[in-house]
Parts: sequence; structure tokens; C-alpha cells
Amino acid sequence: MQRDPHWIDGKPAMPANGQWLDVFDPATRAVASQVADGDARDVDAAVQAAQAAFPTWSSLPNSARARWLERLADALEARLDAFAHAEAIDAGKPLALARDIEIPRAVGNLRFFAHAATQFSSESHHGEAGLNYTLRPPLGVVGCISPWNLPLYLFTWKIAPALAAGNTVVAKPSEVTPRTATMLAALAAEIGFPDGVLNVVNGRGPTVGEAIVQHPGTKAISFTGSSAVGRRIAGITGPMLKKTSLELGGKNATLVFADSDWRAHLDTLVRSAFQNGGQICLCGSRLLIERGIYDDFRAGFVERVRALRIGNPLEDGTQVGPLVSQAQFDKVLACMARAREDGGRVLCGGEALDRPGWFIAPTVIDGLGPECATNREEIFGPVVTLQAFDSDDDALALANASDYGLSSALFTNDLARAHRLAAGLRVGMVWINTWMMRDLRTPFGGSGASGLGREGGMEAMRFFTEPRNVGIALPP
Ligand code: NAD
Repeated sequence: MQRDPHWIDGKPAMPANGQWLDVFDPATRAVASQVADGDARDVDAAVQAAQAAFPTWSSLPNSARARWLERLADALEARLDAFAHAEAIDAGKPLALARDIEIPRAVGNLRFFAHAATQFSSESHHGEAGLNYTLRPPLGVVGCISPWNLPLYLFTWKIAPALAAGNTVVAKPSEVTPRTATMLAALAAEIGFPDGVLNVVNGRGPTVGEAIVQHPGTKAISFTGSSAVGRRIAGITGPMLKKTSLELGGKNATLVFADSDWRAHLDTLVRSAFQNGGQICLCGSRLLIERGIYDDFRAGFVERVRALRIGNPLEDGTQVGPLVSQAQFDKVLACMARAREDGGRVLCGGEALDRPGWFIAPTVIDGLGPECATNREEIFGPVVTLQAFDSDDDALALANASDYGLSSALFTNDLARAHRLAAGLRVGMVWINTWMMRDLRTPFGGSGASGLGREGGMEAMRFFTEPRNVGIALPP
């Protein structure tokens, strides 16, 4: 049986407590591997290794750190198939999604931030009183905690800017999907990455995650995960005055106007709802449809959703795999039962599939208003609702009727409407006539229950550095 240890100081490390956790294959519910069930002692060892590595790593020329990240990207690209296969088994995601999109994007993250290391610059202000310039030194040892839904992609989205800016890292992937992050740490060691620069401590959130957050040696925490855990982390780092970035949940609205080419966009609309089984923070889980096209849209959309191919993630052609865990499976079933109790009409799906694995059929529900739990709480599974709206103001009010504020997509051919609504949506990211259009330079993140701060491009580089302004008097 495969066992994933920690990687500390460039070497595999067994958990100090000798404990291991089972990791399941979501497509079969069988134990696929085990992972270290670490504790605070392992975190302490990792922080010490990272502290020892910091002086050398942070004083390398930016171009040298960039080369290390490029080398890691090259090595990952050369093993792309192995990483994609591991990701598909760990997370139950279609192999094609891992192979064609997510692992290549993890490679892209490493390359992008390699370039960022050499392109990052700071400000200077020349004024009447003199000259100010701003230094941006790294913070020291930083903690990066990532979730299970896009395991390696989100792991690299954090560690790459942290390393590029000159920090050393103690990272924890989700205990549900620890494989590829652990493989990456092993790969880093294999290519000779300096010891102690990238440390991975495996284990559960309340033990390892919280030990990283609480450790006085971690100077910042970059967290992606649920809003509940984000709030808990903020409660710890707040009194410590520790720099914290929180990328949390979403309940994103997709607005479809009668004037849009909605039939031509149906593939995008279905993808935006059900990619990775709806387990992407950016998935549109509330579809808001202009009333005049509601019936036609509902029929067309449901037909496409019914046609999605659900199955073994490793088989060609599978579009939707299982949910990631028993906990997630139970949660989604409970959400669907709640939707029915509240009067929701299940238009397709609505049940688990009669086969091994945590499979739930892609589900579309209508008949529920904005006040229902189904339209307010994040489900994070293959379940979306449809609601009709009558006007732009109505659409905006429905879209903003959420404590979350992550992203939104709107489909219209009316340019003025698109810009007006984009300005009125209380979210961090808006897409017009598309979904999840990516440019790694743009600010990524949300407001309200969706988090605090932004990742992406120079936002991430700024987060992982501490500005120090220097003012010089210039003689007249
Ligand atoms: P989660 O909050 O349960 O866990 C996320 C990570 O935090 C895991 O590594 C976990 O072990 C760790 N953790 C758990 N409890 C902890 C604690 N007390 N202290 C420190 N760390 C702890 O989330 P999840 O179920 O893994 O992921 C799904 C959630 O992530 C969804 O809410 C989704 O919307 C969100 N998400 C957000 C984004 C974004 O960019 N905004 C991206 C992907 C996922």
C-alpha cells in the first residue's frame, strides 16, 4: 500500500506519532493509500527546517529562484501523466480534466511565478519633500493550506508565489487528496531543490493545519478552503496579528439574459455548473434566467445536463466523476433532501447512482426562492438551482442575495447592461459571456463570506512580502 509521509528538509519524514490515515478512491470507496496523520511535532520540525533554509533562499538572486521554479515546472511537466493519474484517483476527477487542464495549470503556476520573481518591482515616489522608495523583502517562513477540490493546482497557486518572493514554506495539502502535493515535494528533492525550502506536512486540519496557523514561526498564512475554517483561522491569526489570506466558499450566480446567445453558450453554462462535479469554488450554482426565455432555457439546459457522462474517472469520455468523500456525499444528499422539503422541484438527477463510489447524478432544481437554504448555502457538489428574473434590478438583487461574494458570470449582448451589472455585482470576479476565463495576472478572490484578500499575479507577490518604505531627503 502506498504511504505518503511528510517531506521535511528535503527528505521523507515519518509522522512523530506513528499514525497514518486512510485515503480513499472515491470511485470505489476502497482505501487507495495512506497518508501521515501528523501533529504539532512534525509542524515544528518543518518550521525549523524552513527557518534554517530561509537566509540562503531569500538571499539568492531573483533569477536563481526563478530557475528553481522553472526546473520544478519542467520536472512536473515531464511527469504529467503520472501526476494526472494520481490526481484522478485521489480526487475522483475525470482523468482528462486532470491531464488536460489541472496539472498543466499547476505547471503554469510554477512558470508564471518564476517569471514574476524576475518581473516583480516596487514603487518609488518622488515628491517635494524628497524621494521615497519601497523595499519588499520576503516574510520568512509562511504557511500554505489548501483544499481537496483542485489539489495540485491550488497547492502550487500558493507555494509558487511564496517561494518566488523569497519565503520558505510549510505547506499542508488536504488529507483527503494528499498524493500529488507529496509527489511534488519528492520531485523537488529529486531535482536538488535546496533542503528545507519547500516542506510538506500531511495530516488533518485541526491538528496539522491549526499547528501551522498557531506556530509563532510562521509569519503568514495563505488558506484556501471553507468559510467556516477560514473564520476559525482568522480567529487565531487576528490576535497574533499574523498576515492572513483567506480564499473561501462561494454561492455564485450565473445571469442569463434573453438577448444573449444562450443556446450557443449552453456548453459553457453546463460546464460552469458541473465541471469537477460542481466542486469548484467558481462554479455557478444559482442560475438566474430572464423570465421570457425561462421555459426554453430550462428545457435546453436540463437536456444537456441529462446527457453528461457520469462514470469511472479513469475512462475516456467521463465528464463527471464521483464526489470526493463520504462526508461530501452525505452532505450533498442532505442538501437535496432539504431542497425537496422546502418545495424544490427536481428537474433531473436528485439521487445517488446505484454503483460503488460516491456518485450523485447532476441535479437541477427549480421552484425555490432566494431565501431558501439551497440558494444561500454552499453545497459544493453537482447541484444547481434555476430562478427567473424580470428586470436588470431584479437580477442584480437576486445575484447579490448571498453572504458570499466570490464570482459571477453574466450572459448578454447588451454592452451597457453588461458593464452596469458587472459594476453592481458584489463579488471579486465577474465574467461576461464566458466562465473561468483565466489570466494569472488578475486579482483572484472574493468578499464577504468568500474571504479576505486577493491572490494572483502581483497581489500574491505583495502578500508574501513586507513593504518597507525608505524616505530620503533631497536637498533643494
Ligand atoms: P476545508 O476548509 O475543510 O479544508 C481546507 C484545508 O484546511 C484542508 O487542508 C484542511 O485539512 C485544512 N483545515 C481544516 N480545518 C482546519 C483548521 N482548523 N485549521 C487549519 N486548517 C484546517 O475545505 P475543503 O472541504 O477541503 O474544501 C472545500 C472548500 O474550499 C469549499 O468551501 C470551497 O468553496 C473552498 N474553496 C475555495 C476556493 C477559493 O479560491 N475561494 C478554491 C477552492 C475551494
